[in-house]
Amino acid sequence: MKKKFLFGPVKSRRLGISLGVDCVPAKSCNLNCVYCECGAADNFFLQAQMFFPVSDIEKELADYLDQKPMLDYITFSGAGEPLLYAGLGELAGLIKKKYPEYKIALLTNGVLFSCNYNFSSLSVFDLIIPSFDAASEDVFRIVNRPGPGITAQALLDGLIALRKNFTGKIWLEIFFIKGINDSNDEVKKLAAAAEKINPEKVQINSLDRPGAEKWAVPPALERLQEINHIIPRSEIITRQAGAFLKNPEIKKNIADFLSRRPVTAADLSVLSGQEKHTVQKQLDELQAQGRIKSSKTTAGIFYISINNKNKQQSWNS
Ligand code: SF4
Repeated sequence: MKKKFLFGPVKSRRLGISLGVDCVPAKSCNLNCVYCECGAADNFFLQAQMFFPVSDIEKELADYLDQKPMLDYITFSGAGEPLLYAGLGELAGLIKKKYPEYKIALLTNGVLFSCNYNFSSLSVFDLIIPSFDAASEDVFRIVNRPGPGITAQALLDGLIALRKNFTGKIWLEIFFIKGINDSNDEVKKLAAAAEKINPEKVQINSLDRPGAEKWAVPPALERLQEINHIIPRSEIITRQAGAFLKNPEIKKNIADFLSRRPVTAADLSVLSGQEKHTVQKQLDELQAQGRIKSSKTTAGIFYISINNKNKQQSWNS
């Protein structure tokens, strides 16, 4: 039977097997992000609404969960902003009470956290993944195109309040757009903001599919790696990074990458989402073939292509 509120379960890169719950009408949001994969905003709301009766969504969820599916998370997300659903806390509480064996996650833009949000309604969530893409007001307006009265500072204050009032895990997501919020200046401001929010980790993301605007494109993988070094406790989660070493041409990818800049096995591991020992094996094989060389430094062992002329002089095999 076609489901109205549920989607999946899907194999999610960060949440494992995740059953999605979409509790707002398509593209109902208080932002209109240039990278939104749902397209341009249709329904702009500044306050939470009871779009559907809690009992309707609860019934559809219960019908599914009664079959005891294998799930890592029930995830409130979808094609709009879940915090705009006024029944969110009540619904999550009912589900957690009836099915305590399932973990519950929330993906949110966090805007409503700055509006005297009742954080106790979120206490049943195990994980919240809020977004924060811009620390400067002008960049915020370009990337997230907020509704009237919504500012980057208010969003930051709301996320700091979330940390103070929520005991579950917080993974902060930052979505980078080439040439818009990936300058060194903005990245440093984002790093400082992330320190204030104090999440368990920061997830660096970018477009894998076309967003709302054609001009919104992802930064190069190398730039995401540089950003990864600037923002503490961060990891890159783009599909582009994940595909980097899973590609059958794995060794070619590494060799190409190392022809542009030196990196450590740990860097490549972060970039690709692959275990470090898998990456190390490929590096060892390339080195044995004479295609790359290594240099031991105080910051670790760096690898580079023997064709990289720029760095060649300062390198010892
Ligand atoms: S917050 Fe999410 S749903 Fe809203 S516009 Fe941005 S990406 Fe789309």
